[in-house]
Amino acid sequence: MPRMLSPDDACISVDVPSNRGTARYNGRTIDVSDPGHARALKAAGYTTAGTAGSPARTGGYRCTSCGFSAFFKTCGRCGGACERPDLAA
Ligand SMILES: [Zn+2]
Repeated sequence: MPRMLSPDDACISVDVPSNRGTARYNGRTIDVSDPGHARALKAAGYTTAGTAGSPARTGGYRCTSCGFSAFFKTCGRCGGACERPDLAA
């Protein structure tokens, strides 16, 4: 079941319409067993908690002069040449 995170510290209670009336969830981190409720919570601004951490950063270049992480082959900070860390010898 998805774990949902409140979008706001002040938002600690939410009502979700269900086929048995209204379900109320309390807390900033809530476990939702009904996928319909999860959809309703997402519509209210809640986000699904990640379980695998932040995605790994892939691609991009690293400046050989200053170590700046650049998206392009020319460093945006010092203008030096950058190379792909994963391709560097
Ligand atoms: Zn640089």
